[in-house]
Amino acid sequence: MKDHMQRLGMTVSLSQEIQNLKDDLEEIPAKVRHLETELAAIDTVYLQKKGEFDKASGEAKKLQSEIEDEAGHLKQKEERLHSIKTNKEYQAVVKEISTGKTMVKDRGETIVKLLASVETLKVDLAPLETQRQELLSTLEQERGSIQGQLDDRKSKLQALEAQLNEQLSSLPEDIRHKYIRIQGKRQPPAAKVVDGTCQECFMSVPPQLAIEIRKTQEIHSCPNCHRLLYIET
Ligand SMILES: [Zn+2]
Repeated sequence: MKDHMQRLGMTVSLSQEIQNLKDDLEEIPAKVRHLETELAAIDTVYLQKKGEFDKASGEAKKLQSEIEDEAGHLKQKEERLHSIKTNKEYQAVVKEISTGKTMVKDRGETIVKLLASVETLKVDLAPLETQRQELLSTLEQERGSIQGQLDDRKSKLQALEAQLNEQLSSLPEDIRHKYIRIQGKRQPPAAKVVDGTCQECFMSVPPQLAIEIRKTQEIHSCPNCHRLLYIET
């Protein structure tokens, strides 16, 4: 029984150490998560502008090739003019040429506008691209440097969890089950009684119960927080 009390006491310090390591494992990658958030924010703007850039460049290219096609047609039509016999047909081709030229002119103006916005977007994209590259390389460095720290904590954590399980496995089954049940709700699942007070919830343990624990060295639960109580033996 005395042995059980000691084991229960040891689980408390072990679970505290385990908790500290788990906190470390959460905190160590915080800088990396921060950088990832920053990168994601830049990426959103970058990808939006890059999309606009690609769209405008693509559109300008498409219009340019339409102009080239039309220029070819216009050349053919102008050559045809020389061999046309009727006035009616001549006027019709002249009209086609005029429409074609207007189309070329309109496309040309649109291209100028598109290329202007392509230039603006290029200027916007340059610093974003630099920021992205810098963040990516910082991120890679950070990820590399924390990996060692994380691996170290993880192996310590495994060792401590094995020790904790060893202590638990030596406790009576009903106590072990209670411990595991409480573990899901409260940390640590066991509490020391000092001067008749539970050291986790700081409520007084009924004197009768405190006497019982001291006398029998049996494990009872705190009536207030339900943690398993132990005393220093
Ligand atoms: Zn308590």
